[in-house]
Parts: sequence; structure tokens; C-alpha cells
Amino acid sequence: MNLSIKMSDIKPSSTLAITAKAKQMKADGIDIVGFGAGEPDFDTPEHIKQAAIDAIESGFTKYTPATGILELKKAICNKLKRDNGLTYEPSQIVVSNGAKHSLTNTFMAILRPGDEVMIPAPFWLSYPQMVKMADGIPVIVKASKENDYKVTVDQLEAKVTTKTKAILINSPSNPTGMVYSKEELSSIAEFAVKHDLFIISDEIYEKLLYDGKEHISITSFGDEVIKRTIIINGVSKSYSMTGWRIGYAAAPLEIAKIMGNMQSHASSNPNAIAQKAALAAIAGPQECVGQMLVHFEDRRNYMVERLSKVKDISFVRPSGAFYVFIDISKLLGKTYKDQPLSDAKEFARVLLEDKSVAVIPCADFGFADHIRLSYAISKENIKKGLDRLEEFINAI
Ligand code: PMP
Ligand code: GLU
Repeated sequence: MNLSIKMSDIKPSSTLAITAKAKQMKADGIDIVGFGAGEPDFDTPEHIKQAAIDAIESGFTKYTPATGILELKKAICNKLKRDNGLTYEPSQIVVSNGAKHSLTNTFMAILRPGDEVMIPAPFWLSYPQMVKMADGIPVIVKASKENDYKVTVDQLEAKVTTKTKAILINSPSNPTGMVYSKEELSSIAEFAVKHDLFIISDEIYEKLLYDGKEHISITSFGDEVIKRTIIINGVSKSYSMTGWRIGYAAAPLEIAKIMGNMQSHASSNPNAIAQKAALAAIAGPQECVGQMLVHFEDRRNYMVERLSKVKDISFVRPSGAFYVFIDISKLLGKTYKDQPLSDAKEFARVLLEDKSVAVIPCADFGFADHIRLSYAISKENIKKGLDRLEEFINAI
């Protein structure tokens, strides 16, 4: 039987596959250290879990409006005001099954066949696949390590065409942990306005910023920017709620309407109980976010200190999210116990097999000679994993 040509071309998510493999190895009794998952190791905070329990016990277990309950949308508007100084109406908010779903909805709502979407590399691996699923063409704009893996407007100008429809910005970034400065964001916003592009601003790591940095949303540069921007956010990373699957988009009304219509047929409402939990997360006490951040920053500092002493690797110190993006190009083409390390994928495979350490090879993130380590795991495990990684690299 013939199957969908478009969908047959879609690659599976290697981050999810590696994370699942590491979890399975652990369940099988292997003493594995998983630097793979972009998933906080903390339990979901108590008051959030309690809100879900209360929802179940009070019978809040039925369909809700397809784009989410009004209470939650209002809370998201309040959050956008409180944290970002932005004014949105509940009708502009679409709550979905995770930010991943919000992003897929966004591309489907704005793209026509053949429209190009500029994606700065390194990028989170799902973006190009999502664009392809929505009949668009991902146009990768490669940033340089010298510019802290951030794209410049000159690089964007070199790739813009009459078919360019949108640009994606993810700050703080997965996989680099880099954060665009106010000036950099402002010039990208200016570029988008000049070429009449949509901006998809993935702000899911907004709360995970170190060294006292504050989050800047690209929407802060005025109405011309707001009217062409779709903000993507969610509760997975900030509140350690990856499995609850709640994300949202804040968009111009026309786009929010299309997304809501699509969702009303494709998935209906996101889980009602999880919406109540997300409401407690967004509208409730925020101390839990700061408490987790203290641990992430401490782990970041430890990672940076240890990794800077490992031979033949290099990286740019991350100031957000929970990843270190490591250049291993000097180690490639060499061997480990007679096994050739031809690329980052082989490096990750041999490391996993020989040392039981899972890392993400980054060809799918646009950099085939880099790996990503997540420090969303306990410090004890980080220490153990880095000891093993160091032994591994010393033996190459
Ligand atoms: N954007 C980025 C940059 C991410 O790293 C993730 C992590 N999965 C997501 C979006 C989606 O998060 P979720 O679907 O769990 O809300
Ligand atoms: N975003 C996380 C990561 O990059 C979770 C896995 C995924 O959804 O890709 O590891």
C-alpha cells in the first residue's frame, strides 16, 4: 500500500529514543548515567500535584473547551503581563498537549506549501521536522561557535528569499544554553519586520536563566513585532511537568483561531486534570521555580568547571536552559579500544556501550561533531557520569 510521502520522510525524535533507551537500561538494572533527557529530575511540586488530585476528586474529568479552560487562559494572560509586560486576551491563547503540540499547530496554521522557515542552527531537533509536516521548507542558518552559536542578522540576510515566511527564535536555547541579548533580539526583530516575516519565539526555557540574567521576549520590541509573533511556552521545564503535557501559544487572534479550529478536530482539549495542575503552576506560588533553579545553576557551575579540564573538547559556557553543547571534533577520526569514532553518533554509541553514559549526538541538531549533555540530573549522577566521560576521553 502507498503511504503518505510527506510523513514517510519524517525522522523519529532521537532525544526521545535515547532517553527511553537510557530509562530502559536503568530499569534492567544497569548503572547508567543519562545525560540525554531534557527533563528535570525533580518531582512535580506538591501544590501542583494536589491541584490535580482535587480536580479528579471533584469530578473535573470531562471535556473542556478545545483550546483550554478560561481560568487557565486568564492565568496565562496574567503571567504574560506579570513576567513579560505583555497584554494578551484569553482568546489569543491556545493551550495544547505540550509546547511541542503548540509548535506543530503554529506551523500548520501559518504555512503554505513551499513557504520557508529560517531555523538558526544549532536547533532543537524537532523544528525542521515540524516545518516539513506542515508542508514548509526548513532553511537552516548555521551560527558559529565564535559567535556563541547565535545567528547574526548578516547570516539571516544571506539566506532570506521571497519565499521566507517565518523565523524561529529559541532563547534560552536547546541545545546550547545560549541567551540572545536585548540588542541581538532587537536586530532580529527589525530583520523580521523589514522582510515581513512571522516570528516563532520558543520561550520554554524562560525561567532557566543563570548569573542573574533576565528573560527578554522578542515581543518586547513593540506592536509591529507582537502582531507577527507567536510565543510558545509551557510548564514542562519550569515546573518539572514534562509528563503532564501542557504547553501554550500566545498569538495574534487570527492565528489563535485557526489553531483552535484545528485542535477542535485533531485532539480536542488538552487533559482536563493537567490543565488544573498547570493553573496551579502558573497562578500559584512561584518559589518552587527558584528552588529548582538554585540546583540547576549549581550543577551548571560544576559541569563547566569539570568539563573545562577535559582534554580535546570545548564548549561555550551556557547561561540558560540545562544543557552543555560540546565540540568533540578533535576526538573524531580517532579510536577507542580499536573502535573508530567516525562521528558524534558513533562516539555516543561506544560511550553508552562501554561506560553506560548516555549523551545526545547532535547531527539532528545541525552539528554532527558536537554532543549535548543535559544537567537535569542529580549532582551525584553528574559527578559519576563526568568521571566516566573523562576516563573514556582519556583513553581515546
Ligand atoms: N521547545 C524546546 C526548545 C524544547 O527543548 C522542548 C522540550 N521537549 C519543547 C519545546 C517541548 O516541550 P513540551 O512539549 O514538553 O512542552
Ligand atoms: N526537549 C527535550 C530534549 O531536547 C525533551 C525530548 C524532546 O521532546 O525532544 O531532550
